[in-house]
Amino acid sequence: MFDPFELSGEFFEGLVAIDEAIVERAAAEPCRDCGGPLHRGDYPRKPRGGVMSAAESFARRFSLCCGREGCRHRATPPSVRFLGRRVYVGAVVIVASAIALTTMAVSAVVRATGVPARTTRRWQRWWRGPFTTSTPFIELSARLVPAPERRRLPTALLERLAVDPSPAVTKLLAWLAPITTTSCPDGSRWLRAVM
Ligand SMILES: [Zn+2]
Repeated sequence: MFDPFELSGEFFEGLVAIDEAIVERAAAEPCRDCGGPLHRGDYPRKPRGGVMSAAESFARRFSLCCGREGCRHRATPPSVRFLGRRVYVGAVVIVASAIALTTMAVSAVVRATGVPARTTRRWQRWWRGPFTTSTPFIELSARLVPAPERRRLPTALLERLAVDPSPAVTKLLAWLAPITTTSCPDGSRWLRAVM
C-alpha cells in the first residue's frame, strides 16, 4: 500500500504549495519580538529521498527574518516538506517507516526506499517512543476511536487519515508540521488555514 514510488512529482509539488501558503501567512504578521516587518530569509537544505528532493523547490527551507536593525529575529514557520533536522524529506521518513512495518525483510525496505536499515530502525524507535509524547500525537489520537496501535505507527495513523496513500501522507505531514519548528510555537493555525 505505501509504495514510495507512488509519491509522484505532483505530490511533492503539492507540499511545496502548502509550505508557500504557510510562509505567506506567517510573513503577513509582525515580528514576535519587536513588531517589525518580516522578510523572506530562506536557508538552504540538502534533503535526501523522494523524486523532488534534488529539485530547487526542496533545496530551500522557507524562513523569515525581522527587518528591523538590532532585532533580526528569525521565524521559521512549520513545514510539510521537512521533518525537523532529519536529512530525509518528511514524506520519506513516513513511507520508509510504514513499509518497514509491512515486511520482515530489511533488504526489501532498503530496496524500496533507498534508506539505510539502521536509519529506518531509528525512525521506528522515534514513532514508538518520543513521538507518542508529542503534542501532534496526543491531539490526533484524542480524535481517533479506538486509539491507534502504538506498535503500528505511523501506519496506524495513515490508514485512519485517508484511504489513498498520498493524501494520507500529506495529512500526517500537516499534523506533524508543528514539531518542525521551535521559532513559531503557535504556527499550527497557519496550517489549519491553508489545508
Ligand atoms: Zn523584530
